Amino acid sequence: MPELPEVETLRRGLEHHFSRRRIVDVEIIGSRTVRRHASEEVPQLLVGSTVSKCGRHGKYLIVFLDSGIRMVIHLRMTGRLEIVTPPFLGDIKHLHARFRLDDDRELLFFDPRTFGEIFISTTKDADQLPDELASLGPDPLSEDFTLEHLAKVCKKRNAAIKSLLLDQNMIAGIGNIYGDEICYEAGVLPTKRASQLTDGELAKLYKATGQILLKAVERKGSTLSDKKYLDITGSEGQYQKHHRVYAKVGTPCTCCGNLILRVKISGRSSYYCPYCQK
Ligand SMILES: [Zn+2]
Repeated sequence: MPELPEVETLRRGLEHHFSRRRIVDVEIIGSRTVRRHASEEVPQLLVGSTVSKCGRHGKYLIVFLDSGIRMVIHLRMTGRLEIVTPPFLGDIKHLHARFRLDDDRELLFFDPRTFGEIFISTTKDADQLPDELASLGPDPLSEDFTLEHLAKVCKKRNAAIKSLLLDQNMIAGIGNIYGDEICYEAGVLPTKRASQLTDGELAKLYKATGQILLKAVERKGSTLSDKKYLDITGSEGQYQKHHRVYAKVGTPCTCCGNLILRVKISGRSSYYCPYCQK
């Protein structure tokens, strides 16, 4: 699933290609993608509007329209956005939505597993998150994500720190890859109880969160061997080459040479170095 760095890379691509463009036509092919609406409602709400900017909160893309409403996109497991110049000759088997722009290009939304979602939020206060996203925690690259916030949510929780990092209602945007990389960078075992973290460990974890996510954004996110994540022009991210622990079970730690181990946390594989992480 795309995490914050991949979604931020897409946001930058959307900002470049989609902002200031007028939407001249919308075709909804997969009604499940717009499941909060009747399919015909989506074109009615969007056609004729101009995109003013493209934002993001956690793993959600938020497209601001000059009419004051916002289009929210979540890719979930297999959603993918691509900007194309018609005629599009690629595979349209899993094409669920098509947005035609006033420069004759099209933004396409593909989603083989159909967990992804597009919805229109009519919350008018553009400074507020759309109502539908109100339960999300702060975005870790925003000013709202502070050491105090991290310490507060950790103190109350007995769960493994990795689980807490992945809890979107506590912090929005981290998933399985970056959760492991952040714990490694901080030198903290992913299984460590959140409430047991010392002030020093919390400070390291807070710093590592920003550092890892920013480095991954710089390298346009991670494209794994399944190639599920590609940027808006169809290019691969590069941060997978810089993973230190994720999916590296049995290979030597680049810092100490001990073998990377795997443990299940909340049913998901987590990777760590038994020497560098305490
Ligand atoms: Zn190590």
